[in-house]
Amino acid sequence: AEPLLKVSNLTKVFDIRKGFGKKEKFTAVDNVSFEIPKGTTTAVVGESGSGKSTIAQMVLNLLDSTSGEIHFDGEQIGNLSEKKLFKYRRRVQPIFQDPYGSLDPMYSIYRTIEEPLRIHGIGNSASRQKKVKELLEQVSMPAATMHRFPNELSGGQRQRIAIARALALQPEMIVCDEAVSALDVLVQAQVLELLDELQREMGLTYLFITHDLAVVRQIADDVCVMERGKIVEQGSVDEIFDAPKSDYTRNLLNAIPGASLI
Ligand code: ADP
Repeated sequence: AEPLLKVSNLTKVFDIRKGFGKKEKFTAVDNVSFEIPKGTTTAVVGESGSGKSTIAQMVLNLLDSTSGEIHFDGEQIGNLSEKKLFKYRRRVQPIFQDPYGSLDPMYSIYRTIEEPLRIHGIGNSASRQKKVKELLEQVSMPAATMHRFPNELSGGQRQRIAIARALALQPEMIVCDEAVSALDVLVQAQVLELLDELQREMGLTYLFITHDLAVVRQIADDVCVMERGKIVEQGSVDEIFDAPKSDYTRNLLNAIPGASLI
């Protein structure tokens, strides 16, 4: 399949201030390249601080790169006009780590899911209400949930709401940044199963950021393994799990509970 997302030689250098007027450069993302074919999932995995979130922020166009290019559906996203950026934000949606990453505690669930539709001027209040009900159904939540607030829901339910909100604008790609990391293993599996179903139904493409290779095995087709800003190895999930090339990847694999049983 054609890649929907193409990341080429992506680099991010941060200026870090050290005391009086002293500056240091820190390369958080170092010459990273990967492609995600339409309708598939690529995981970016690595230890904390390896540059995963920085990649997600650049793909979401929330952070500028220092060098390199990001193409989405054949178009470079680095220098989009305001109008095109608005459209890009509709096509590519984020889901962040719970708790409170994605949901405003002061917003009802209805307002949470309806907001992107309203901002993008889609429908009238009656049609938006209908759409919110449909979205709740898609994430297996009762329609009455719309009257509740985030703090009345469990972590897994909140992530379902975050998914419903992300789906409201019918995106093509979802960037999940540690989206299931705060959930216990059983709930994690349920949310991953939902994401998998939605992918099959809607042909969604996922960029999945996680520190957890157990999550990668459940959700991803391809993996990039990151260490200190660099990709140390990349390939299909089967390749990485069956025959990891680097000690770094082997250590990550050994950190999975019950790894010896795999
Ligand atoms: P990960 O998501 O893999 O945990 P991050 O992408 O969040 O890693 O961070 C990678 C590195 O870049 C870390 O060492 C972090 O401290 C550094 N970093 C991230 N954002 C900034 C920033 N705005 N300024 C300076 N350093 C940053």
